[in-house]
Amino acid sequence: MQEMKRVPVRYFKMINFKTLLSFFCLLFIVNSSSAQAKPDRIQDSDPDTAWVSPNKSVPSFATYQLYPSPERGKGTFGSFMIYLPEEYKNTTRRYPVIYYLHGGNGNQREGQWLMKELDKAIKAQKMPPVIIVSVQALPIGWYCNANVGAKGVISGPVENVLIKNLVPYIDANYRTIANSSGRGLEGWSMGGFGAIRLAFKYPELFGFASSLAGALIEFQDEHNPQYLVNTFGPATGAGSEKSIEYFNSVHPRFYAAKNAELIKKNVKIRLIVGDQDWLYNNNGKFITKIFSNYLDYLGIKHEYSVLKNVGHMFPNEFADGTREYPVQFWVDAFKAMFKTSAIAQPVTPFNAATLIKIGDEVRYGSYLIRKIGDEVFQINDPGNKSTKGGGWGVDMYLVCGTKKALLIDLGNNYITGYEKDLLKPRMNAAEELLSVIDGLTGKLPLEIAVTHMHPDHDGMTGAFLDQKVTFWAGEGEDLNALKTQHNLDPSIYQVFTQGSKSFDLGNGRIVETFPVRGHSNGGTIYIIKKDMLVFSGDALGSGFGQAFPTVERLKQMAEDSQNLVEYLKANFAPYERYGLRVFTGHWWQNAYGGFLHPNKSPIDIGYLDWRFIQDVASCANGILQGKWLVDGSGVRYIGNMVYTDAWPSAEGRAIMVCGTGTIIIPLRQAYEAAGLKMPDLYP
Ligand SMILES: [Zn+2]
Ligand SMILES: [Zn+2]
Repeated sequence: MQEMKRVPVRYFKMINFKTLLSFFCLLFIVNSSSAQAKPDRIQDSDPDTAWVSPNKSVPSFATYQLYPSPERGKGTFGSFMIYLPEEYKNTTRRYPVIYYLHGGNGNQREGQWLMKELDKAIKAQKMPPVIIVSVQALPIGWYCNANVGAKGVISGPVENVLIKNLVPYIDANYRTIANSSGRGLEGWSMGGFGAIRLAFKYPELFGFASSLAGALIEFQDEHNPQYLVNTFGPATGAGSEKSIEYFNSVHPRFYAAKNAELIKKNVKIRLIVGDQDWLYNNNGKFITKIFSNYLDYLGIKHEYSVLKNVGHMFPNEFADGTREYPVQFWVDAFKAMFKTSAIAQPVTPFNAATLIKIGDEVRYGSYLIRKIGDEVFQINDPGNKSTKGGGWGVDMYLVCGTKKALLIDLGNNYITGYEKDLLKPRMNAAEELLSVIDGLTGKLPLEIAVTHMHPDHDGMTGAFLDQKVTFWAGEGEDLNALKTQHNLDPSIYQVFTQGSKSFDLGNGRIVETFPVRGHSNGGTIYIIKKDMLVFSGDALGSGFGQAFPTVERLKQMAEDSQNLVEYLKANFAPYERYGLRVFTGHWWQNAYGGFLHPNKSPIDIGYLDWRFIQDVASCANGILQGKWLVDGSGVRYIGNMVYTDAWPSAEGRAIMVCGTGTIIIPLRQAYEAAGLKMPDLYP
């Protein structure tokens, strides 16, 4: 009896709630007596192959848009429906994006309910403003690339089009926070399957995945063979083993196991199912719970909740107001990243009064500010040791004159996080930095100059967009990195030629520039003769050494650092030179100077000096002369880098040391740079 009543493919079907479905408008009515190959549809359904929805209707808060889909071939397009928060047009800021994935036989218009719900929550200031993109995937596409070539398959490369075409298109054309910390997926039914599988397959792209009545089924659970055939191939009989194999290979379960570690680190997950849904209890098989248990088994934390007294169609109840949409998941997801949203904490103005003598330091929010000279400050972003690379902490430097102030480098990127360094966005990162600069510069006009365009040195550029500041970068630097790394317009920076540009801050405080290439293509060293200060960014390393991917880069650095030595010799008297203080981009790395005793150096290298500059130049030039092979030359090869989270890519490279200068380079390239043949004893 119960079987008779059961709709064969409930997660593909919506009951025709005429009043509600005017906006749900996607589904078809299945006759419960048989699993039809071609289901009836309500009028609004889109055709089987409709990448572009023929129905352009949108609610007042959304628009209908097209994007190119080269993954399907030249000149092809897909469509989507997009919601932008009301404030979008009046701001320059970036927003998180939630991609909504529709259910089986659905289309982009289905996402209206979520847009409406979140719009309400945003307007009530319950959650930060977000962009919502409701995708037009194929009616039965399962959010994967179809098993093309198998009999009966009519779906296509849905996954590739969404991942390689749609997501980049959205990031390029809207002000998005273009990394996993600002990108989520929500899907209903087949879309729930899709949300989980895409997040699990691409944990570096998506930080959040919410599955509502997700079809997290096994192949054999499916009642309507046609829904399998469309994407995977024959559902029964000849060829069906291959279909099952394919289905299993794209199943979220597969990626859960494969990417468990990254998922644990990066993806927040929720599963919601109604207790009257067969996806909850299919004749004693608790489908969603089984999936949840599997995640538990893998150690993947997730929310799992069962809604009482509701079947497959519970989004209808959110839409008609009979049930509250659980918005908390998205509130938590994005609450940390807003600098001026209603839910950001107010920032107490920074007070510089305790910075009296050199060496004084004060904590402010997540920054550590240290007085290192007369009106010269180190602004340290201590970072987070559980991340990597630049996430381990960077240093900016502020020099105030009588006419203006110069900020050297722009710290980390905690405004929106930075994916490659696994940096999470930090509440008030931008406001706090602005407040520190404000407190230290007073009314002085500000200019900002970076040592180089790596994300850990230009990442806070976004904080100063609304300020009246000039941004400077040295000639040769890759300005385009601003676009690719932070989605910022590179033209906001002015380019100068090192050597001819200097910054006159007033009262004789002149900041000179000097080029040292190698670590980057146009690295700049800033020198203030009046204060005997050198700010070198990463150009000379920070004691921890610096890596050179090519021999060419090493040669550039060897030449430029030697030129720097000559320049300093020519411009500073001998004893003067020993009074130079060198501040690098990553002060914490000093502790590794010379790799004598990592962390426990027997010599005091809390600060770097003239000796360090010479050591680095000697090390680089010594490698070119093969000196590590010469006993007593001062250049030593002390072994290879082991794996570290701080610098994963350096693993296996040779550590060359000369005094406090260190260079990390693949041994093969050291031999090549020296014009020597590498002995056969090395692999
Ligand atoms: Zn760098
Ligand atoms: Zn750096």
